[in-house]
Amino acid sequence: MKYLILISILIGGKVSNAQQFPVADLRKHIEYLASDELEGRGTASLGEIRAANYIANEFVELGIKPAGDQGTFFQPFQVTFAVEGVPHTQTARNVVGYLDNGGAKTIVIGAHYDHLGKGYQGSSLSPDSRNKIHNGADDNASGAAGLIELARYFAKNSIREKHNLLFIAFSGEELGLLGSKYFTEKPTVPLSSVSSMINMDMIGRLSNEKSLIVSGWGTSAAWGRLIPGLAQEYRLKYTVDSSGVGASDHTSFYLKNIPVVQFFTGGHADYHKVSDDPDKINYEGEARILSLIAKLVEQLDKEAAEPEFVTTSNPHANATASSFKVTMGVMPDYSYTGKGLRIDDVSKARPAEQAGIQAGDVITRLAGKEISDIYDYMEILGHHEKGDQVDAEFLRAGKLHKVKVTF
Ligand SMILES: [Zn+2]
Repeated sequence: MKYLILISILIGGKVSNAQQFPVADLRKHIEYLASDELEGRGTASLGEIRAANYIANEFVELGIKPAGDQGTFFQPFQVTFAVEGVPHTQTARNVVGYLDNGGAKTIVIGAHYDHLGKGYQGSSLSPDSRNKIHNGADDNASGAAGLIELARYFAKNSIREKHNLLFIAFSGEELGLLGSKYFTEKPTVPLSSVSSMINMDMIGRLSNEKSLIVSGWGTSAAWGRLIPGLAQEYRLKYTVDSSGVGASDHTSFYLKNIPVVQFFTGGHADYHKVSDDPDKINYEGEARILSLIAKLVEQLDKEAAEPEFVTTSNPHANATASSFKVTMGVMPDYSYTGKGLRIDDVSKARPAEQAGIQAGDVITRLAGKEISDIYDYMEILGHHEKGDQVDAEFLRAGKLHKVKVTF
């Protein structure tokens, strides 16, 4: 493959102790953060403030120091977004906690805690999403819960690591990585001291069929050296994406030449819909992912040298979702490693569904061009306008089908 190195490894082996991340605690955090009371944690909303206070309170109880602005846990920043076409400027906030071990270098652990609110901001995929609460249990109460529990693990492990650990819950991610961009522009610890950044965005839907997706793999040789053994230890099948630029907050740190790694359990039919709820989370799976991340931090901490930064080729930088004029209305299966684009889910009344494409189909050609992977697909979308009609070919149960798609 040209731009993307994908390896999938299935491992048996013994189960390591996942009890260091109790399922009951993860469930408690996710059930609260993704409850209707928080109204979908829209950026700069009351629900966002409640979620921020919840995370900050957990940090207080753990004895984690505040590292936001003016001695608080909060780093406020201005956001401007359109509500029904009208621009609004409001204040959002990152939540920043610091485990200061007196080290020269700091490892950043991050997860965004904002979501789509009541469907007025960001990109809901639910039909008639307006005024409906998008709980965002997987996206990204799962990552925020992981952040709290990793903070607990390192605050309570009675080991003083060589590195300081900075825990950041970002806001504004769904509006375009706004909180992490702000943090990297106005860091509350010197960015030059940040040796790596570990991100968690959607780690709640681990399944036996799919792999954990590890992005940023190419940004440092450290990931390829450390993660395979840990994945084996925790029985995690995984797929890697080498690029440091992706659809979450690790991107902001990569763009500052910091080695990054991002964990993701893959897309699903509830992604960005009102049905992304806590009852669908695989809590035991998340506990195993957190065990891997905790051990990764411990191993990074013990390495003789800091992880070296590597610039990754970034072919899809100009094919981010915001640059598309058209979409097919499909949820790609990010963990699919075969040739083509496998579809996890199809949105109602959108071009793919209207052309007869279904979940499970693998699109192999679009608009006269071959599709090897998701980036080919994004590249093709970038060349089309609303109303264009193109040929598409897809495989269903091994049989080739040809249809016309109207964007
Ligand atoms: Zn997310």
